[in-house]
Amino acid sequence: MTAEAVDIVGLTRALVDIDSTTGCEGAAGRWLADYLRARGWSVEEQRVDATRFNVIAMPQIGATQNVVQSFRPAMVFSTHFDCVPSFFPSRVEGDRLFGRGSCDAKGILAAQVAAAEQLRRDGESRIGLVFVVGEERGSDGARVANQAAHGNGSRFLINGEPTDNRLGLATRGMLRLKLRARGRAAHSSFPELGESAIDKLIDALIELRSIALPADPLLGQTHYTVGLISGGVAPNVVSPSAEAEVMFRTTSDAADVRRAVTPLERRVAIEHVLDVPPVRLRTVPGFETAVFPYTTDIPFLPGWGEPLLFGPGSIHEAHTADECVSIAELKAAAGHYVTLAKALLGQA
Ligand SMILES: [Zn+2]
Repeated sequence: MTAEAVDIVGLTRALVDIDSTTGCEGAAGRWLADYLRARGWSVEEQRVDATRFNVIAMPQIGATQNVVQSFRPAMVFSTHFDCVPSFFPSRVEGDRLFGRGSCDAKGILAAQVAAAEQLRRDGESRIGLVFVVGEERGSDGARVANQAAHGNGSRFLINGEPTDNRLGLATRGMLRLKLRARGRAAHSSFPELGESAIDKLIDALIELRSIALPADPLLGQTHYTVGLISGGVAPNVVSPSAEAEVMFRTTSDAADVRRAVTPLERRVAIEHVLDVPPVRLRTVPGFETAVFPYTTDIPFLPGWGEPLLFGPGSIHEAHTADECVSIAELKAAAGHYVTLAKALLGQA
């Protein structure tokens, strides 16, 4: 079966024009599933919650309930179709395609579909598509998609995020910790009768600045942001409680950071909120490479094979108020995805 080439700009714009802010991906998922079916893919709508589902597509294998287990891909392309707020629709100005999700990651999704269709036309049918919800808020879609991958035989996962069409060498992990200080309330005219939780928290955050955090030759020095802080009850009350949330961008196991910050426990309680490990990625000769300080869905998709990271667009455009992507870069990405897939499948 020969399908005609994918209109990458048209597909990106159609997806961008459906609001799929994380939590509300249902309509975009339905449109995408119908689009892929119309192009001759077998599509599984994999439920994530009552209104949201991942879209998993395999070459046509006839009517089946379980597309993934009925077709065993050698390799999959994967990215997400949820977006950060706020939604705004697509428009084209010269080489730039604007709109929420144009860069992160609906243009990438369109380039992956175009590549998969090109590979099918070239007689390569061992390729699947795994498009997930929820990447921007905790990766719930990827976690569910990984369950479906169990034993499916896929050897490689080409995940798409904006990398300026460079192959990722590694991505940082992250660790979120909550620091909680306890004090004792008192009238602020007699501070010696109370115990200030805010003072303890400030002391802990100042001490944190002088703690040596783990470093890695490839990923560099662990860094962190104190993203949230709160505490106290009123201006004239010694604060009984205070807390801060700190996000570390890690370069090794999260336990290394936990060990480094244990001295802070003399001042505050440390609560573990969430961690995602750093990832080392497979590369293919002939591509420019780089390391990336952000985390992706890759740590949640181990069942789909050895990971690679590649995508058009710049992470500096993602999440911005006037998000956009270069159309030339989108089109080039489709060709690069074909080259990557052929190199990997040649080894498989
Ligand atoms: Zn993304």
